[in-house]
Amino acid sequence: MGLFTRGKKSHSSSFLDNDTASQLKILNKKAEEHDIEVLKHKVENLSLICRALWEFICEDKNLSENDLVKRIEKIREMKEKTEICPKCGRIMNLNQNKCLYCGTRGNDTGAFK
Ligand SMILES: [Zn+2]
Repeated sequence: MGLFTRGKKSHSSSFLDNDTASQLKILNKKAEEHDIEVLKHKVENLSLICRALWEFICEDKNLSENDLVKRIEKIREMKEKTEICPKCGRIMNLNQNKCLYCGTRGNDTGAFK
């Protein structure tokens, strides 16, 4: 999302001359690149925090990385499961915990939903 559009389509050539429109395009591209860099930095930081927390838990609970991989797979399988929406009868992904068609909430109301 660019700094000057904020989710809306840019107003390009309808009321801007070509130079202004192309400058706006360049600025939007730079703003998007900046947003991506900020997100990359945040993801890298969260990854480091995750690793540090894992190492604390590993040391404390005597777990191995294999235990972590198994748990991740278990969670991934659970997230891919589906259920039938109680209101409209369509299939809903438990990962969404909300029917895409009618908005009915799923049964899982845990902290990660
Ligand atoms: Zn539904």
